[in-house]
Amino acid sequence: MIDVMVIGAGSAGLVTAKQLAASGKSVALVENDTIGGTCVSYGCVPKKLWHRVSAFGGQMDAANDYGWSVSESSFDWEAMQQAIRGYVQKLNARHYQKCMDAGVTVIRGQASFVSPTTICINNTHYTAGHSVICVGSTAKKEPIPGADYCDTSYDFFSWPKQPQSVAIWGGGYIAVELASILQACGSRVHIICRQSQVLGGFDADLRAFIMDRYREKGIHIHTNSTIDRVDRIDEDTHRVVMGSQSIRVNRVIQAIGRRPNTDALLCESAGIMRDANGAIIVNDQYATSQPTVSALGDCIGGLQLTPVAIAQARDWFHRVWCKGNFPVDFSTVPTAVFSHPEIGTVGLTEDAAREQYADVSTKTLTFTPLTAVLSAQPEPVFIKLIMSGGDLQVRGLHIVADSASEIIQSLAVAIQKGITKADLDKTMALHPSIMEELVTIY
Ligand SMILES: Cc1cc2nc3c(=O)[nH]c(=O)nc-3n(C[C@H](O)[C@H](O)[C@H](O)COP(=O)(O)OP(=O)(O)OC[C@H]3O[C@@H](n4cnc5c(N)ncnc54)[C@H](O)[C@@H]3O)c2cc1C
Repeated sequence: MIDVMVIGAGSAGLVTAKQLAASGKSVALVENDTIGGTCVSYGCVPKKLWHRVSAFGGQMDAANDYGWSVSESSFDWEAMQQAIRGYVQKLNARHYQKCMDAGVTVIRGQASFVSPTTICINNTHYTAGHSVICVGSTAKKEPIPGADYCDTSYDFFSWPKQPQSVAIWGGGYIAVELASILQACGSRVHIICRQSQVLGGFDADLRAFIMDRYREKGIHIHTNSTIDRVDRIDEDTHRVVMGSQSIRVNRVIQAIGRRPNTDALLCESAGIMRDANGAIIVNDQYATSQPTVSALGDCIGGLQLTPVAIAQARDWFHRVWCKGNFPVDFSTVPTAVFSHPEIGTVGLTEDAAREQYADVSTKTLTFTPLTAVLSAQPEPVFIKLIMSGGDLQVRGLHIVADSASEIIQSLAVAIQKGITKADLDKTMALHPSIMEELVTIY
């Protein structure tokens, strides 16, 4: 009998298993793919490396405006794909070793429930006093005619060669990031988005700003559009049909959302309840409808981000399992979109702030940063500050700029502490910098 069975070795599962093992429990961690999960193998890590790789395209153009002579350049897609894959494999091995060092038993295979305390893996039944479901989520695919010719973000990370043209169906952050990476590497990119703006859930002005930037860079954004059908013309060419319009591209990516990875768990065998989208239903203690089974991370719905999955795992371990304390504020989660230009955001959008507070005020700035003024195609910066109340408490900050993710991570500390406009005004500016504008806005 195992004390705890952790299902899924991704961001949530790894933290959960190692914490439990360190506290002296016997822990088995079951994984049917790579140790590290989505973030390490098919998400944040390879995506951020591709973001870095693709940034050089624009930087070489800019270098010519700054006195450098960067002549004919070429890009070796296959070499980068291999280099990134190689790095990911090293991380997978490192995570496996850390589990071994922590005394976690790793079982390779797909887990499914036979009962709340019995789990079947590779036709072997294991009994566990407690189970923690950390199975994450997977890309959804719309079953349109020709869906088999469409890839998902998962496939992108193993494309052997760079497509000259790509259609990306979806307007969420994964669609927007892949579009930008591909465009910066030299592919012709179409985004097909059901809404009138990309990046649903982000601030409306920021969405408009990024769409303008994308269009200026030559990315075609088809708004209020959907794909009806994908026809295969040959192995490398597809026709994408959108109402009366059609385009020809090499590759099609469906990035229309994600679904919790819970079907194979056979939750019904254990009386574990799921919602209509397949997310495991949990209470505020991460307990499922079976008290000896908990669930964490992407598979319970909500904000699907690595730091959220990790914080839930720590919260569950300290507060629920050990009856201790784990102070973390899930209401102020900074996020980034690794696009060109980069987006960083924390707190409320203007629309959300107006729903929650009566007296909302905003300050928006767009300007060309000093470092870009000599460029033939200067990248403008966007900063939007959202405040409420007589003391102008900062409720949201939205930035589009180089390194916006780094800027937002630092400012998230101050915003989580509840700073006001007066605190910004009191702070001395650092000159010349982009963010001095934030403390000198009047
Ligand atoms: C393209 C992309 C880019 C992303 N970029 C970012 C980013 O920049 N920043 C950020 O914070 N987040 C990002 N995310 C989201 C982030 O990757 C997830 O929120 C995070 O990985 C969730 O962790 P998890 O532990 O819940 O699930 P996962 O990391 O998905 O781990 C679940 C694991 O369970 C395994 N599993 C599933 N079912 C079973 C079963 N029945 N038996 C055994 N094993 C099973 C899976 O193989 C997987 O390894 C991105 C995601 C994608 C797809």
